[in-house]
Amino acid sequence: TKPVVALVGRPNVGKSTLFNRLSGEPRAIVDNIPGTTRDRLFGESSWNGISFDIIDTGGIDPSSSRKDPLSIGSSDYIKQIRSQAEMAVQEADVILFITDASTGVTPADIEVAEMLRRNQKEVDGRFRPPVLLVVNKADSAGLRSNAVDFHELGMGEPYAISAVHGTGTGDLLDALVAEF
Ligand code: GDP
Ligand code: MG
Repeated sequence: TKPVVALVGRPNVGKSTLFNRLSGEPRAIVDNIPGTTRDRLFGESSWNGISFDIIDTGGIDPSSSRKDPLSIGSSDYIKQIRSQAEMAVQEADVILFITDASTGVTPADIEVAEMLRRNQKEVDGRFRPPVLLVVNKADSAGLRSNAVDFHELGMGEPYAISAVHGTGTGDLLDALVAEF
């Protein structure tokens, strides 16, 4: 069976934009259970002849954060982040954790990082599934240089990309398929 890659991150970091760039037409919406955050899109992608499925976990509703959507405004918002991270860890062979170069590290990013770490399982001394840290919206040299700040999330080397322009995605996909 094909490897499954999940896109995870707080709202507005560009998960759906990256999903659309990497996959063709979304295949199906599954488990769209009202009142839950389990709705997600599956797409198919490939790189260097290696096929994989990709999931846009969506699901975190920014309006559930009553205050600044970049801050953690409500317990409902944290619940949604938790459920998205748990789902991704259960379903994915590799997780792409998406963040935003234009905002820098936010409290919600730290929350997502903690949830992912909490849900990963240690297998033979390695944490599974592996998480690749993606710093999106790195549209310019100045924004790309902001990517180093994301080391503080403790998720390894950040990959600076622009989902809109397509820059940096080749290096990211090389690293992604190396994890399969
Ligand atoms: P999601 O909530 O994580 O799925 O984010 P979306 O894919 O819906 O994108 C949120 C906003 O960020 C949209 O206005 C996108 O056009 C914008 N966006 C996404 N990727 C990029 C990028 O690489 N550069 C810039 N400048 N904007 C982006
Ligand atoms: Mg989206």
